[in-house]
Amino acid sequence: MNLEEAIKSTVRDIPDFPKPGIIFKDITPIFYDQKLCSRIVDEFIARFDQRPDAIVGIESRGFLFGFLVANKLGIPFVLVRKAGKLPYKTVSHEYDLEYGSAKIEMHEDALQKGWKVIIHDDLLATGGTAEAAGNLVKKLGATVLGFNFVIGLDFLNGKNKLINHSNNITCLVHY
Ligand code: AMP
Repeated sequence: MNLEEAIKSTVRDIPDFPKPGIIFKDITPIFYDQKLCSRIVDEFIARFDQRPDAIVGIESRGFLFGFLVANKLGIPFVLVRKAGKLPYKTVSHEYDLEYGSAKIEMHEDALQKGWKVIIHDDLLATGGTAEAAGNLVKKLGATVLGFNFVIGLDFLNGKNKLINHSNNITCLVHY
């Protein structure tokens, strides 16, 4: 089975979670399969055309492959978390949601000025979260080399929000 088929046959659709009308893409069964995890990490690394200085992972499922990729490349891994979770001094960025707003944070010493980073999350939907993470990266004087997702929900056009940061957007599978 090629990687795309292997991922698609492993990811589970959960209808009406967390609310009616949403089909939640549950990636947790991927983590039961160590070989599939290794293939995913290797595929992300194979697609880099430039070595990043760090990987930035978005809470919480962006930590999973983001950290494995960073560790395999031997580069730092940086956590983006929801406001109020990180213990040290932070920079924050507030962004609009469909209803209301959300705030994310990163430790202020997590990235050095001029670094080029890859942002990781499990899934690209509207792109709002990843765009906000890109703005946080910019606030620390670093730049976004690209975005990595396991899954892209193409019908939500999330890429449009990310191209201001980078048009290097990888989704290993598309729906
Ligand atoms: P967005 O900011 O709209 O691109 O939403 C992306 C974030 O929401 C990611 O962190 C995903 O984990 C989560 N997400 C959004 N839609 C789904 C979905 N249908 N299935 C699983 N996760 C989702």
